Amino acid sequence: MSKVRVRFAPSPTGPLHMGGVRTALYNYLFAKKHGGDFLLRIEDTDQNRYVPGAEQYIMESLQWCGIHWDEGPGTENAFGPYRQSERQGLYRQYVMQLIESGRAYYAFDTPEELEAMRKRIEAEKSGNPQYDSRSRLSMKNSLTLSGEEVEQRLASGENYVIRIKIPENEEIVLEDLIRGKVTVHSSQLDDKVLFKSDGMPTYHLANVVDDYLMQISHVIRGEEWLPSAPLHVLLYQSLGWEDSMPQFAHLPLLLKPDGNGKLSKRDGDRLGFPVFPLQWKDPKSGETSSGYREAGYFPEAFVNLLALLGWNPGTDQEIFSLKELVEAFSLERVGKSGSKFDPEKAKWFNHQYLQSQPLQTITERMQVIANQKGIHTNPDKLPKIAALMRERANFVHEIMEQSAFFFEPPSQYDEAFAKKRWKEDTPGILMSLAELLESAEPFTSENIHALIQKFMEDNGIGAGKLMPGLRLALVGSGMGPDLSAIMEILGRGESLERIKRAAQNLKV
Ligand code: GLU
Repeated sequence: MSKVRVRFAPSPTGPLHMGGVRTALYNYLFAKKHGGDFLLRIEDTDQNRYVPGAEQYIMESLQWCGIHWDEGPGTENAFGPYRQSERQGLYRQYVMQLIESGRAYYAFDTPEELEAMRKRIEAEKSGNPQYDSRSRLSMKNSLTLSGEEVEQRLASGENYVIRIKIPENEEIVLEDLIRGKVTVHSSQLDDKVLFKSDGMPTYHLANVVDDYLMQISHVIRGEEWLPSAPLHVLLYQSLGWEDSMPQFAHLPLLLKPDGNGKLSKRDGDRLGFPVFPLQWKDPKSGETSSGYREAGYFPEAFVNLLALLGWNPGTDQEIFSLKELVEAFSLERVGKSGSKFDPEKAKWFNHQYLQSQPLQTITERMQVIANQKGIHTNPDKLPKIAALMRERANFVHEIMEQSAFFFEPPSQYDEAFAKKRWKEDTPGILMSLAELLESAEPFTSENIHALIQKFMEDNGIGAGKLMPGLRLALVGSGMGPDLSAIMEILGRGESLERIKRAAQNLKV
């Protein structure tokens, strides 16, 4: 096998959908697995659909995920440039080659004439309402006009397009690595525009020419491109490049969590999850869409969950580092049918990573949130809070939300809980406990725990009588983790102060 070279070839028409990130990821995994190259190519030939900021967004998304490209904008080498707009001069010679060999032709039809043709075919019900082998001979193009007239029109600067001349009666066969053999009859295809008089190629021509020039070995892309694949095969054949045609692998769709159909931004808005890797602000409407990064996902968790949406390792293993994914990945294990996205499972992945991340990573993020919210923290305590609280959280911001009582003493006490559990003798009991806790040395959760046990035994008080009141005093509510652990983190001074304050202030 020649060297594996694959590419991710997004068009900068907006933010990258998570399905697009998955496509990039599978390309990356495949390349790395086979010691090959992963290229990033920006397909920006359609100036009308260009959205400022989108290219930057795409690159930042891949970088955030750790999907690094070997070649791409900024790493120019013999195969560059990697932005199609910067390769513009390159495409004309190939479309001219197609014209000369009779595989493509000039067409001069106006939008009105094209519309009239479609209407006519629809009315006659005589076939597909498109520019193809049945309709092209009734249109204004170099197949129907004299050579002289074509020359004249071109010389006078008339607008034109160059269309591929799809063969009339041919089976086009391609072997897709995921779907198997795909056969399409040429009568189903239309004479797609390859090139326009403004000197710009369309997606199809630029895509095929670049895959050829960049020596791409495998085209791994979304299923929405499967209908274009036969046209691409024809282009390879027509340009005499059949021997270097890449292998195709069309990836199944990501499906919405409920019902059928492609996962869309609307599903995310409706069900409350992001569909984009990073937050995106639409430059025109100013509308902001949420991103996985801003929602608090670890990039490793996001990559992990994406990897398993369409590919399966053939074992029960669910947690994979990027390195492990590279080792385990194969296109044979990518399914044919779409995979349903499950937002709850996505959170589960982040929960898993939250448990295994270094405490340092978590505390850094906690500090950022604290700074944003103006929360006063003692940096020495953050790692302990993280270790204690992460088990109950899916995200670092949830740790912060559930840890508010560490940073500030209760300003009020949960009334319903107090009503039920704060008894007349609670203040006295708590004051005696506080006295005993003065002797905990050092003030660690083990020592505190042992003293509490001793206190209960010596005084014949059950946990059900002591703990709810103690919890109210320390936390302000009936929730939270182990009280000895909480007290160790709060420290002796703060813990005893809280107990005394509640004992004095909280009335039944
Ligand atoms: N520019 C196309 C896109 O935006 C690339 C499709 C392909 O990979 O061939 O998805």
